[in-house]
Amino acid sequence: MGRILSISNQKGGVGKTTTAINLAASLASAERRTLLVDIDPQGNAGSGLGFTTADYERGTIYDVLVGEKTLDEVILDTDLRYLQLAPATPDLTGAEIELVSMEQREQRLRQALDSVRDRYDFIVIDCPPSLGLLTLNSLAACDAVVVPLQCEYYALEGLSHLVKTIGLVKQGINPELQLDGILLTMFDARVSIAHQVADEVQKHFPNQVFRTIVPRNVRLSECPSHGKPILLYDIKSKGCEAYLSLAREIMGREPQRDVA
Ligand code: ADP
Ligand code: MG
Repeated sequence: MGRILSISNQKGGVGKTTTAINLAASLASAERRTLLVDIDPQGNAGSGLGFTTADYERGTIYDVLVGEKTLDEVILDTDLRYLQLAPATPDLTGAEIELVSMEQREQRLRQALDSVRDRYDFIVIDCPPSLGLLTLNSLAACDAVVVPLQCEYYALEGLSHLVKTIGLVKQGINPELQLDGILLTMFDARVSIAHQVADEVQKHFPNQVFRTIVPRNVRLSECPSHGKPILLYDIKSKGCEAYLSLAREIMGREPQRDVA
């Protein structure tokens, strides 16, 4: 059964999509059958892999969440043999509203993933920058949350809210949910605030911070406009090295690892 990871942080611009794409690609490069699921209406996970909306004529995750298509119908192959994509488009904004009146509205994604889960080793979900119904669906569906955190002054603001939300989801709809780790992103070793944020996060969340720290790396910011994961854009870059290392950390974990 595939392990389902939700890449979440209600802040925008912290590296969720970059992490979702490049973690998924790195897992796939290690021959782990991986599905990248986009539940952000901005659809950047797909565009970052070189897709445009013209490629989505079979449907998107919107159709799946509102019950008009099965997940299997909308899954696409990518340039990497072991990586597939379930794409999103701006339509998905509508789903957030339509779901409100549906039964088990926060379980729709979980139900959809159940139907394909046994075909994958990992399912990586790219979340929108909010704690609305779409993110809630992701938290309800996943085994663990990966929280990218940008190493800047206000990084910790909002983190306690996210941790509280994870706690509530765990008490309610998903008792097995784990915080699999906080991932420090866009780390710039020359900037003292970056070190302060890293130290503070380590102090507040001991044992819950990934050893891998993703550096600020211009190659990582370039690759989406080329429609490629960093692995296919610049395999020798520091950014690529970091996401391969993150993938190794995640593959090395026990499935039921308990974080105190
Ligand atoms: P989110 O999905 O949380 O909104 P993104 O992954 O889209 O965040 O990242 C926001 C911006 O920062 C994008 O332009 C992305 O290319 C860039 N970016 C992300 N991670 C890095 C990094 N490690 N180094 C440099 N730029 C990065
Ligand atoms: Mg994003």
